[in-house]
Amino acid sequence: MDDVIRRIDLRNKPLSNSELRQALPRPEVSVDDAAQIVAPIMHEVKERGAAALRDLSQRFDSTRPAHLRVPAAALQAALEQLDPDLRESLTEAIARVRQVHEAQVPRDFTVDVAPGAQVRQRWIPVQRVGLYVPGGLAVYPSSVIMNVVAAQSAGVPSLAVTSPPQASNSGLPHPTILAACALLGITEVYAVGGAQAIAMLAYGAAGETADDDAVLCEPVDVITGPGNVYVAAAKRLVRGIVGIDSEAGPTEIAIVADSTGDPDFIASDMISQAEHDPNAAAVLVTNDVSLADAVEVRVARRTEVTPNRERVEIALAGPQSAVVVVDDMEQGLRVVDAYGAEHLEIHTADAHDLAQRVTSAGAIFVGPYSPVSLGDYMAGSNHVLPTGGVSRYASGLGVHSYMKAVQVIEYSAAALDAIGTKIVRFANAEHLPAHGEAITARLDQSRGTATDT
Ligand code: NAD
Repeated sequence: MDDVIRRIDLRNKPLSNSELRQALPRPEVSVDDAAQIVAPIMHEVKERGAAALRDLSQRFDSTRPAHLRVPAAALQAALEQLDPDLRESLTEAIARVRQVHEAQVPRDFTVDVAPGAQVRQRWIPVQRVGLYVPGGLAVYPSSVIMNVVAAQSAGVPSLAVTSPPQASNSGLPHPTILAACALLGITEVYAVGGAQAIAMLAYGAAGETADDDAVLCEPVDVITGPGNVYVAAAKRLVRGIVGIDSEAGPTEIAIVADSTGDPDFIASDMISQAEHDPNAAAVLVTNDVSLADAVEVRVARRTEVTPNRERVEIALAGPQSAVVVVDDMEQGLRVVDAYGAEHLEIHTADAHDLAQRVTSAGAIFVGPYSPVSLGDYMAGSNHVLPTGGVSRYASGLGVHSYMKAVQVIEYSAAALDAIGTKIVRFANAEHLPAHGEAITARLDQSRGTATDT
């Protein structure tokens, strides 16, 4: 039997950070490769609006939606038909995620720089956002919650949700996604997925025919949400036209474990993330060869019986997944920082302390009872997290993703006068004398020495 997952042995290999990054697993299909594929798709949407969206749904989702914008009655019906037990789970998740996100709202502040000289910082929500909810291989009502609750907590007034149409639901998004939208009070929902959805949100989209000049979707200011590599690539292409959250592409789990790690917990967590996508990544980093062996045995055993076996096998056997053996936990820490996983689980004797030392990860799950599945649904944290190593500089989705800071400057005449000469000197040093004159015009007036020019 072929190995279910390959092994990378980094013991006795003193590598620099860049060598380490080279040695670590990464997916075969990069976001850049996918960008070449999705660019023409996005161009089509820009040129042909709703007509292109329907054609692309036919091509990628095998259904031609009758309604690109989901009718209000369909949202209401989905909520009424939602299984009461599942409604309870969604409601619990919403409450926990809201609790955490409301605590994230940044506070305005005012600094009295000098008497009469004030700088305030105001946080303002963006006015309109587009929230992507995946729905290709699996459906993600949890992503409705993660996007919507964060945007609502930020105070965004206009929210549009979009998710792929499902042939099994007459070309509408999955009923649970619609029900989750209705539960959160969302009324603007589109049956559009993939790169075409990102194009619709970024550029806006006109109605179906040349005669039909009604606007299907107004452009948004910020697009957030997770998706496969095509969605991540489409977001990269529209960055600048709109704001985006971090690139939240195919899921990754890295687990750092020592001899105290439970091989069953570790194997089940690797498989839980591998089932998202054939491009998903699962990486174990350990200094204990017997744990590595035990996990590999359990991964093989569990994979054989897991319902999404096909995608799990491809994801685990791919170049993006591996068991990495290191000399000790110090090297393990360097490895996980260089990898910068979307999800990092820590299964070591000193998990709490080790977590404090990690510098690059989308989210850190500490100890054996904080699995990624908890964070996927109900921990209260956000599950939309940076992938592809971008956690070196990017954060997961949060209230900050939908807010911008504006500085407000207010000086009195006396406060300006107190530093006027210093500013003029500065302006002259930059050979921008008109800047200085904008100051002296005011100083002359307040000192009563103004002359008409
Ligand atoms: P999806 O909605 O992201 O993608 C489905 C769409 O992809 C289709 O509607 C189609 O338009 C497009 N597509 C499929 N094949 C294509 C091709 N060959 N060319 C162009 N477009 C194509 O749903 P999915 O596929 O189930 O993927 C969900 C993804 O979201 C998974 O990779 C999962 O790991 C990821 N995810 C990430 C996070 C995160 O925070 N990083 C969180 C949840 C889910």
